[in-house]
Amino acid sequence: MTQLKARVQLLHERLHQYNYEYYVMDNPSVPDSEYDKLLHELIEIETEHPQLKTSDSPTVRVGGEAQSTFEKVRHDTPMLSLGNAFNEMDLRRFDERVRDSVGEVEYMCELKIDGLAVSLKYENGRFVQGLTRGDGTTGEDITENLKTIHAIPLVLQKPISFEVRGEAYMPRKSFLKLNETKEKKGEQPFANPRNAAAGSLRQLDSKLAAARKLDIFLYSINDFTELDATSQSEALTELDQLGFKTNPERIVAKSIEDILAYIEAWTAKREHLSYDIDGIVIKVNAIEHQETMGFTQKSPRWAIAYKFPAEEVVTTLQDIELSIGRTGVVTPTAILEPVHVAGTTVSRASLHNEDLIHERDIRIGDQVVVKKAGDIIPEVVRVILDRRPEHTETYHMPTHCPSCDHELVRIEGEVALRCINPKCQAQLVEGLKHFVSRQAMNIDGLGTKIIEQLYYNHLIKDVADIFYLAKDDLLPLERMGEKKADNLIRAIEKSKSQSLEHLLFGLGIRHLGVKASHVLAEKYETIERLMTVTEAELIEIYDVGEKVAQSFVTYMGNEDIRKLIEKLKAQHVNMTFTGQKTTEITGHPDFQGKTIVLTGKLEQMTRTEASNWLKLQGAKVTSSVTKSTDLVIAGKDAGSKLTKAETLGTPIWNEQDFIDKQKEIN
Ligand code: NAD
Repeated sequence: MTQLKARVQLLHERLHQYNYEYYVMDNPSVPDSEYDKLLHELIEIETEHPQLKTSDSPTVRVGGEAQSTFEKVRHDTPMLSLGNAFNEMDLRRFDERVRDSVGEVEYMCELKIDGLAVSLKYENGRFVQGLTRGDGTTGEDITENLKTIHAIPLVLQKPISFEVRGEAYMPRKSFLKLNETKEKKGEQPFANPRNAAAGSLRQLDSKLAAARKLDIFLYSINDFTELDATSQSEALTELDQLGFKTNPERIVAKSIEDILAYIEAWTAKREHLSYDIDGIVIKVNAIEHQETMGFTQKSPRWAIAYKFPAEEVVTTLQDIELSIGRTGVVTPTAILEPVHVAGTTVSRASLHNEDLIHERDIRIGDQVVVKKAGDIIPEVVRVILDRRPEHTETYHMPTHCPSCDHELVRIEGEVALRCINPKCQAQLVEGLKHFVSRQAMNIDGLGTKIIEQLYYNHLIKDVADIFYLAKDDLLPLERMGEKKADNLIRAIEKSKSQSLEHLLFGLGIRHLGVKASHVLAEKYETIERLMTVTEAELIEIYDVGEKVAQSFVTYMGNEDIRKLIEKLKAQHVNMTFTGQKTTEITGHPDFQGKTIVLTGKLEQMTRTEASNWLKLQGAKVTSSVTKSTDLVIAGKDAGSKLTKAETLGTPIWNEQDFIDKQKEIN
C-alpha cells in the first residue's frame, strides 16, 4: 500500500504540473497521450482503492486555475470536461450506459475542435462578457480579446439573454504564420495551434490578440428557456440563425454503427481541414434525455469525447545499437521500450548519426517523445529532460568499428562515421545480403539469417561462393528442411540468368545505383567491355557522374575483382545484358506518375540533382503546391509552399526522409 500511495503522490505531482503547463502556461512539456495515460492510471487506482482518492485529485478537477492577471469571474454553471473514449469498446460501453438509462436514443456527432473552451454571455442580444473555462468554476474575463474574433457577433438577431459556449481556435494558416514571425524574432514558437490560441487569448493587450487571427465554433447553450430547441441538433441550427458560427460537419447518428462510420471517415479526412481537431464528441441529442442523465463532478454523463490515436507518445530509450552498412557507415539505432504510436508498435528508431544524438542530447535511459515522421518512419523527437534518471551520460559513438575494431573515420563533408576496413566482416555480410536482394540477383528465400549462418560457418566468403553451394551445405543450417534446401538451390540456379545490370548493382560498387547499373549494362552489353571502359568515356554518358565513373573504373581494375568475376563465370553466371531497354522502363512504383514539389534549401544535393533523380523514377516535378500534389520535399527555410502543403494536408518529407528513400532504391 505504501508503494501505491507513493505512486498516487507521484501521479498527483506530475498531473498537477502538466495541468499548470498546459492550461496556465500554454506550454506543455509532454504530449497529450502521456497526460491521458497517467490520468487513466490514476483513475484505475482510485476505482480500486477509493480511500486513496482525495478532494484535490487531478481526476476530479477540471482544467487549470484562472490566471491572476485577468479578473476572475465565477461561472453561472460550471464549465466541465468530457469523459474520454479511446477505442470502439469504450464507445460501445458508453452507448450501453446511455440506453440503460434512457432507452433508444439519437446522438449528435461533432468534430472535437482542438482549441480552448470559452463562454459568451449575451444580455438583450448584446455580447457583454466572455470567459475562459479556468478551473471549471471560475474563469478569466477575456471579453476584450474575444471581441477581436470576427466570428463572434456583438449584437444578435434577437434581443435574448443567454450564455453560449464554444471552442476558440487558431486556424492552421494563422498558426504557421505566427510561428514564422516568432522564429524570425528569435522567440520560442508555439508547440501547436491549441497553445497558440490559448496564449493569444491571454494577451493583456487586445491589439496583440487581434493580430493572431483566431476563430471560433459555438457548440452549446446553457439555458434553453429562451430558445425553441429541444435537442442539440436543433440548438445548433438555432445558433446558426442567431448569427453564430457552428461547425457544419456534424451529423445525427441513429446507432453506434453510424458513430463508428463518422469517426472512421474523419480519422481519414481530418488532415484536410484548415483547423486541428483532436477527436469526435458524441452527445445524446434530446435535451430531455440529457437532463435525465445529468452530470458527474467532472463531466456530463450524456456525452463522450473519442480521442484520435496518439501521434506522439512517451517511452524509454533502453539502448543505442550500432549497425554497420554495406559501405561501412555506422548507424546508431534507438532501442525503445515497445510503444503503440499511430497504429503500430514501435521498438526501434534510427538516430541517423552522432550529430543528431548530440543536438537532441539523447541518452540511454532517457524518457523520449516518439512520433512517426511522415506517418511512416519512427523518430525520436526529443527528451523529457525533467524525467532524466541520475547518472546518465552524454552518448559518444565508438572510435573503433564494433565489428572489426578498425578505427572509424569521418569523411570530410559527411556526418556519418565509417569503417573503411575492406575486410570488415559486418560490411561483407551486408554486401552479401545486398547481392541477393530483390533489385540485385533476387535470390528468393536467401534471407538475412541464412546469409549470416553461411558466412559465419565459413560456407561463403564472397558473393561467388553462393553459386558453389550444394544442398548438403544447406541442410545442417537452422530451420532448414529438405524442401527448403531444394527450393533455395533452385532459386540460386535461376538467378544465374539475371541480366547484367542486376549483377552490376549486386556487386555493390560505390555510388552505382540501380539506374546507373542499367545504363551501363545496356550501353556496353557485356562485362568484358565494361572491364575495359575508361573514366573519360563513362563521364560522357548522361546519368553517370564523375564519382560513379571514378569508382567504377577503380573497381573493375582491381585484381581481386577480376578473380571474383572469373569465379562467377566458372559457375555460368550470366554476364550480358538481356534486360529491358531504358526507353521501355517505367520508374519506381513509389514515384511513378506522382506529382512532386521541391522547396527550400537542400543541403546534401542541389535541387536539379534531386529533380533529375525524381524524374528518372517517373515523377513529375512541378513548382507549385496544389490539391493534386502528391508529395512535397522541403529543405531548410522552406516558406509558403510548405505552409500551403501543411494547410492542404499534403505529405511532406524533409531532406533526410528523401535521402533515406533514395538509399533504399539506389
Ligand atoms: P477534453 O479535451 O477531453 O474535452 C473537453 C473539451 O472539448 C471541452 O471543454 C471543449 O473545450 C472541447 N470541445 C471541442 N469541441 C467540442 C464540441 N464539439 N463539443 C463539446 N466540447 C468540445 O477535456 P479537457 O478537460 O478540455 O482537456 C483535457 C485534454 O487536455 C486532454 O486531451 C489532455 O490530454 C490535454 N491535456 C494535456 C496536458 C499536457 O501536459 N499535455 C495537460 C493537461 C491536459
